[in-house]
Parts: sequence; structure tokens; C-alpha cells
Amino acid sequence: MNAPVHPIEHLHAELSDLDWITDEGRIARLSQDFSWFSPVLKRQLEDKRAQAVVRPRSEDEIRRLLASCARLRVPVTVRGSGTGNYGQSTPLQGGVVLDMSGYNAFLWARDGVARAQAGIRLSDLEKATRPLGWELRCLPSTWRSATLGGLFGGGFGGIGSINHGPLASRGNVLGAKAITFEEEPRLVELRGSEAMQLHHMWGTNGLVLELEIALAPCHDWTEQIVVFDTFEAALGFGDAVSRAAGIVKRELCVLSAPIPDLLRQLADHLPAGCHAAIVAVAPASEPALQETAAQFGGRVSYRRSAEEVRAGNRTLLEFTWNHTTLNALKVDRTLTYLQSAFTAGQHLEQVRRIDALLRGEVLMHVEFIRNIDGHMTCTALPLVRFTSEERLQEIMRLYRDNGVRINDPHVFIVEDGRAQGTLVDGAEAMKQRFDPHNLLNPGKVRAWGGGAPV
Ligand SMILES: Cc1cc2nc3c(=O)[nH]c(=O)nc-3n(C[C@H](O)[C@H](O)[C@H](O)COP(=O)(O)OP(=O)(O)OC[C@H]3O[C@@H](n4cnc5c(N)ncnc54)[C@H](O)[C@@H]3O)c2cc1C
Repeated sequence: MNAPVHPIEHLHAELSDLDWITDEGRIARLSQDFSWFSPVLKRQLEDKRAQAVVRPRSEDEIRRLLASCARLRVPVTVRGSGTGNYGQSTPLQGGVVLDMSGYNAFLWARDGVARAQAGIRLSDLEKATRPLGWELRCLPSTWRSATLGGLFGGGFGGIGSINHGPLASRGNVLGAKAITFEEEPRLVELRGSEAMQLHHMWGTNGLVLELEIALAPCHDWTEQIVVFDTFEAALGFGDAVSRAAGIVKRELCVLSAPIPDLLRQLADHLPAGCHAAIVAVAPASEPALQETAAQFGGRVSYRRSAEEVRAGNRTLLEFTWNHTTLNALKVDRTLTYLQSAFTAGQHLEQVRRIDALLRGEVLMHVEFIRNIDGHMTCTALPLVRFTSEERLQEIMRLYRDNGVRINDPHVFIVEDGRAQGTLVDGAEAMKQRFDPHNLLNPGKVRAWGGGAPV
């Protein structure tokens, strides 16, 4: 008697015209993301692998793949560029990794709105919109390689969130085309808040094919480092610039000592032991920025015009958000990080309190943003000198005890990573509608059977 054919072999045979990646090393690499930032996730996820990776080039290829996988009950984990931090695109139960990077067309941009296929790189999307006078409203510091679908499925926001809040702020995402994971897949256009029920769900309740997003008028951003003798002065500067409505900016972060010492590529501009702010500002706002720096005893140690940034191919933006962590990890692999959200209006007080409580062990990295309600606040991606998983939990408890929300970056379950500990409203209904067989990235949502020890 013949041995039963493995479902993956069925897929290879049925869909032999698709672009399958079969090399074991590449499959292993395409099964991982940046979860190694967390010593906890590294231990839990490093051996997780897909059984196959496929890179579809058209809607028809995606539709045929989903139809076959639904019939054979093969799990599918969607991947953009794999820059996520929590094993978001790492398959826990094998199956197929669906690499969206080949499904990447820019569709159109007009009147401050753009539409593109989900696998487009954010850098390519902005390259297409800039000549028309528009830029993306918020983008992760990984925008060079990260995809639009990955930002929507796994991201939060980042550069530009100081103006437009996180991606989830109403009006940033206008619509999404998604496809159902069934034997006969259907295409569905979702608008506004309905589309957002798939946002930050790690591709567990819907596969997004296209996104329509609102844009912002573009500027030729000047990048600057301002250095300070004390953290209090740097924080005061950050607060003043964040609240100065007349200063047009795209990015503003504050790094407490000794983080600047860890940014070795910028060592010429960061005196040893300094505290620093990194700012991207419109040229017309530079005098006002300098005045504010002087008011807080700060000194501009680095300035590059947009033209110089382009020509030099080095941007300070790649030292902000989680790139601060990445650059610090290059120097000291014993570090890890946290993600915390402060309460608007109390944010400076909370930053000071946490800094005083944990100084030396937790190194403060503050990003000024508007929150989802439009209030100016800050979020933090502090570096942590890792000693043990127990101590990491204790530190997070201290944050929570002090009224600071933690979005835990050391878990691979959607609910556990959210400060609220629950799914967004409507996520469940979307699951029924788009993934009735529970085959999308299974194991990542507690409500749908995830959370078992791995
Ligand atoms: C150094 C560094 C800096 C970072 N900075 C930021 C930052 O500033 N802001 C921020 O928000 N994040 C940041 N991140 C996290 C990550 O880079 C972003 O969220 C990025 O947008 C993810 O895009 P990606 O294409 O790599 O997605 P992936 O990592 O490939 O996927 C992310 C999630 O989205 C899902 N997904 C991907 N495509 C689709 C689709 N078409 N339909 C449905 N689900 C989909 C995947 O299944 C996965 O769960 C950072 C990460 C690193 C390593």
C-alpha cells in the first residue's frame, strides 16, 4: 500500500506553478523575525519552522493557494518582511509561510490618499507618493524593508505619530481589501473602523491584499541631534518641542545616558555620558528648535539637511524607535527592552518616577507621540539590563503599579501583548468571517486556542 501523501506534497503538486522556496536554510530564515530582541521569545521560538514558504505574485495565486490550504487544512502564516518583534510571522504549527513581498504594486495616490498591494515596502510606497507632494503619516523605523501589510498586521506607528497618532487613530487607514480563507475564497472590501478590526491582529483573523491609507503633505526634513548634561533638561526640551504647535516635526525622541554611548556609529556627535534628543524638523522650524534647545541648555551636535541625508544614505531615523534597541544590542547583547505607554498629562511625571525607581537597570528611551485620542504624550522603549525572566516580570509589575501601561514585547500571544489583555472589538466576528477553519497563524490568540506551552 502507498504511504499517504503529506498535505505539503499535495500543495507542491497542485500548485507547481507557484514560486515555492524549498531550501531548508531559507525556510528556517523566513520562519523567523526579530523576536530575538527578547531572551524569553528567543528561547521559545527559535526552533519554530514552516514546512514550506511560497511567494505569490498575483491575487489569483493567493486565491488558489488559500483554496487548496483550506481544503487540506494546512495552516498559513502571512509574512511581510519579517521585521516584527514578537514572532508575529513565525509559524507555531508548521504549515505554509505566505511571503507577501512579491505582491507589491503601488496602485494610486491622489488627494492625500494612497492605495497599494500589501506586500509593498513602505520605502517604495513613499517613493511613489513624494513626487506628488505626499508622505506617509506614520512609519516604523524599519520602513526601508517593512511592508504596508506588515505595518497594518503587526505594527503600531512610529515616525510621524507625533502628528497623527498611532496607525490605529481614526482616519489614518481608510480601507482594506481582504480575502477569506475558505475552499472558495471571497474578496471583501472593508472601510474605516471595520478594516481596523484586522489591525495589529498579527494576520490571525484576515489576510489583507490591499490597503488604502491617508497621507500627509511632505517636507524636506532636517535631522538633528541635541545633547544635554542632564536627563531632566533633555526631557524638558522634548516636552517643549512636542507641545510647540508651530514647530513642524516628524520625529522627536529623548535618550537618557548611557544610551547615546551605545550608538557607536554616531559617537563623533555624542559626547561621552551625554543625554540626547533626536529630532526631524521642517527647515522653517529650525530657528525655533534652536531657541528651545538653548532654553534648556542643549547644544546641536549634528545637523543634516534632507539633501545631505539622501546623499549620505544615513538617517538618524534609524536610531529611533526600536532601532535604538537594535543599535544598542550590537554593542551589548545582554540588553533587552520594554514597551510602555504613559498617561497623557501625567507622562513626564511618570517618566521621572520610573527613571528614579529603576535608574541603572532600565535606561530611558522616550518617544513623543499623540495618543489615539490626539493628546500629546510619550511612549517609551526603555533598554533593560537583563538578569532573569523573573526580574523582567518584576520590572513590568513596577511599571503597572505606577499606573504605566505595558505592551509586553516578551510574549507571542496577541492578547498578552496588549495592555488591555483582550482583543479589539469586532476581531472575533472577523475571525468567523475570514478564517472559519482557524488556519491563519494558529496558536497566537488565546481566544482561538493559542497559549499552550511551546
Ligand atoms: C529595529 C526595529 C525597529 C522597529 N520599529 C518599529 C516602529 O518604529 N514602529 C512599529 O510599529 N514597529 C516597529 N518595529 C516592528 C516592525 O518592524 C513593524 O511593525 C513593521 O511594520 C512590520 O512590517 P513587516 O513587513 O516586516 O511585517 P512582518 O514582520 O512580516 O509581519 C508582521 C505581522 O503582520 C502580519 N501580516 C503581514 N502582512 C500581512 C497581510 N498582508 N495581511 C495580514 N497580516 C499581515 C504577519 O502575519 C505578522 O503577524 C520595529 C522592528 C525592528 C526590528
